[in-house]
Amino acid sequence: MNPIERLQALPRTRLAFLPTPLIELPRLSQRLGGPRIWMKRDDQTGLGLGGNKVRKLEYLVGEARVQGCDTLITSGAIQSNHCRQTAAAAAATGLGCVLALGGEEPTGAPTGNLLLDRLFGATIRWCGEDRKGERVPAVVEELRLAGRRLYVIPYGGSDDVGAMGFVAAMGELQAQLKEQSLAKVTIVVASSSGGTQAGMVVGTDLFGVSVRVVGIGIDKGEAGTGPYEARLAELAGRLADRLGMPTRYTADRFDVRTGYLGGGYGVIGDLERRAIQLAAQTEGILLDPVYTGRAMGGLVDLIKDGAFKGDETILFWHTGGAPALFGRGEELAA
Ligand SMILES: *Cc1c(COP(=O)(O)O)cnc(C)c1O
Repeated sequence: MNPIERLQALPRTRLAFLPTPLIELPRLSQRLGGPRIWMKRDDQTGLGLGGNKVRKLEYLVGEARVQGCDTLITSGAIQSNHCRQTAAAAAATGLGCVLALGGEEPTGAPTGNLLLDRLFGATIRWCGEDRKGERVPAVVEELRLAGRRLYVIPYGGSDDVGAMGFVAAMGELQAQLKEQSLAKVTIVVASSSGGTQAGMVVGTDLFGVSVRVVGIGIDKGEAGTGPYEARLAELAGRLADRLGMPTRYTADRFDVRTGYLGGGYGVIGDLERRAIQLAAQTEGILLDPVYTGRAMGGLVDLIKDGAFKGDETILFWHTGGAPALFGRGEELAA
């Protein structure tokens, strides 16, 4: 089998509406006086209000089923989009779902993604400071003793199983770029646990798609200068190995901009607030307060900085997250 055939042979459970739309944003381009801007609508992957994690979950759930697991367990912040999409995927495939969420149980009614986690029937374990899965091994041990067969999904679904979703997405994109006759394309995408960006870079090599990928770093802890790019390279290497690709990856293959971290993970500043209003008011498109709002704020700044040439086309990859808006009303209405 060649690498593309190997990708096609991996266990996969169909969960998303694919291909997601690729649309042009003429009013946003005009407002910014910049290059042409297109958007890949992975906020419209369909399952449980959509988002980029649905692509990863197709491969993660596929693998969980092959292993005969009956329950998915993963971790994230209280307004985690990844956890909400995992809860929806579990419901849609008849699996149980346990979420190890950071913080403490809120006293009032649940909002945003947390409300949806509850509606999808997930069991929630509150983990205080530990929002990145630190307490998952202990919970897994406890539930295994109780007879459950758990499939552990890492923080953000970013391992060499989940990130295959974004390797495959580059095949989908290749067909759409051809259809629209788009060339000189630069993808701009929010980058946090890394599966999205690493998968994209491997996918462009696998399918021979000539696009540049620029990640906008979202999380201080992860998007520091050296180490994050090194981890992207490590994950990309594992993806390539699984597919039998000869390509080797080093940190310098990964372009991550870390100048937009503001007050830290999940802190809404002027950059995010203005970007959310801009997309909403020029195109009627909803971004989210943590990832795509920050990424769009970064794109606006890069355009103002003259980072792109006039004949380049920007492809903003909308990774979803809008349900989190409803958990942040007070800060966003300000
Ligand atoms: C998880 C997430 C990202 C980041 O994707 P990674 O693969 O973790 O880098 C971006 N945007 C949204 C809305 C997300 O939920």
